[in-house]
Amino acid sequence: MVTSGPPIPQRGLFINGQWESSSGRRLDVINPFDGSVIGSIAGADSHDVDRAVAAASKAFKTWKKTSGTQRAGYLRKISDGVKARRSELAYWETLDNGKPIAEAEADIDDVAACFNYYATLAEKLDERQDQRVDVGEEDFLSSVRREPLGVVSAITPWNYPQLMAAWKVCPALAAGNTVVLKPSELASVTCLELAAIAHEAGLPPGVFNVVTGLGRDAGAPLSSHPGVAKVAFTGSVETGRAVNLAAAQNLRPTTMELGGKSPMIIFEDCDIDKTVEWIAFGIFANSGQICSATSRLLIQKSIAPQLLQKLKARAESIKVSNPLDPDCRLGPVVSEGQHSKILKYIEVGKKEGAKLLTGGARPPHLQKGFFIQPTVFTDVTPDMTIWRQEIFGPVLATATFTDEAEAVRIANESEFGLGAAVVSADKQRCQRVARALEAGIVWINCSQPTFLQAPWGGTKNSGFGRELGQWGLDAFTSVKQITSYISDAKLDWYPEMVKS
Ligand code: NAD
Repeated sequence: MVTSGPPIPQRGLFINGQWESSSGRRLDVINPFDGSVIGSIAGADSHDVDRAVAAASKAFKTWKKTSGTQRAGYLRKISDGVKARRSELAYWETLDNGKPIAEAEADIDDVAACFNYYATLAEKLDERQDQRVDVGEEDFLSSVRREPLGVVSAITPWNYPQLMAAWKVCPALAAGNTVVLKPSELASVTCLELAAIAHEAGLPPGVFNVVTGLGRDAGAPLSSHPGVAKVAFTGSVETGRAVNLAAAQNLRPTTMELGGKSPMIIFEDCDIDKTVEWIAFGIFANSGQICSATSRLLIQKSIAPQLLQKLKARAESIKVSNPLDPDCRLGPVVSEGQHSKILKYIEVGKKEGAKLLTGGARPPHLQKGFFIQPTVFTDVTPDMTIWRQEIFGPVLATATFTDEAEAVRIANESEFGLGAAVVSADKQRCQRVARALEAGIVWINCSQPTFLQAPWGGTKNSGFGRELGQWGLDAFTSVKQITSYISDAKLDWYPEMVKS
């Protein structure tokens, strides 16, 4: 097991291609494994945000004139830089966020792939320009161009620190925008390293800027800044509402990737052993700190006892340990605040009458750090808090159903609509249920696999707009119509009036 590695670099703010100090105080970087302070980040304020937006605005004047192919060159170099530094980036991600090193490595691979993928879409954007629009008139020729918006602010959470940033930064840069990124104060380390890698890749100054700091000090001014053309946000519903309101004052568009309480419906004809694996992955990966985690499990009554028995055994066999251990599959949650919030939810669950099948506490062998056992509740009813609210931890709420109609109805009774999953051997039923579920993403016979090429985003309180794929790039463009009059004939709309 790797227990030591390079220390976390001491960085400032990355503005206009340079490391700069912030006006505010520095904030501790805390290792969730043991609660120790392992570094610090700059706490930016509105003056720092002004400087970053000014740098990005200046850079946009030149960057917007580059071709997609030129931008692809930079994105590919950044991808290579991420690949070259994979092991230290994954190591720092684990130290900063607490996720198992195997997951951190997979995240960093996804970041590198994301830069490459959007490099290809940047090249394709050149081919998509000036596409003809048939306006049904032979005297006119119409075509459309996709143009960048300007300075994009990207405000991101801590659960996939570098990856959530990449989902915004890659398409925004590919489309020709410049970016000011404000990562979460709970996990900013690898986002700062992304700036270092972009710099080494020769990205022009001001094209990509990173301001670290608290949400109220750095995030809020970035949401309300009149120099920002679009705010791309991932985080909680509450913050999303505040960010959206702030951007609305300037009539700026936003993308909102918010919380979830995704249902997973298990029908009696499933393969129970395979299903239990997906159920566990859907709620325990990243310690359940996934916006789309399938945290509400609906099991058809006839198989509930058997399935729950196997799920309990599986949950209890998951290795909970130092996240730097390559076999660790459940690390600590990100912070002390998150730890106590999850434990409170567990207490509320018990108080409201749900039955604890397994877990529910700190693992006895880990007395330090922000660890919580894989936890499963049974007999949860739709009115209970743990069924309705996003816990964002390794806590699964389960309930049973009798038939398909009931399962879909209960699944849809939620303020959220991000992900949903259905498991059954009956393909037609899976398709029918997938269409009936109110969600932006539906998984059939699995939970959580995510692909760069497919759209990501939710409905209802889970937000609006889509990231990833072509949709993710188009969300950072403005569509311009160019129409030419190609006839030799005079317009002749105004009849000549004879003056009396
Ligand atoms: P959060 O809302 O607390 O913070 C998100 C970001 O917003 C951080 O960078 C934070 O500093 C900033 N922020 C806080 N207050 C702000 C303000 N007033 N103005 C502007 N910015 C502000 O969320 P979190 O705890 O970091 O992340 C967890 C949440 O994110 C969960 O609800 C989860 O479901 C959601 N999430 C959603 C997706 C998705 O794709 N839909 C992905 C990951 C996480």
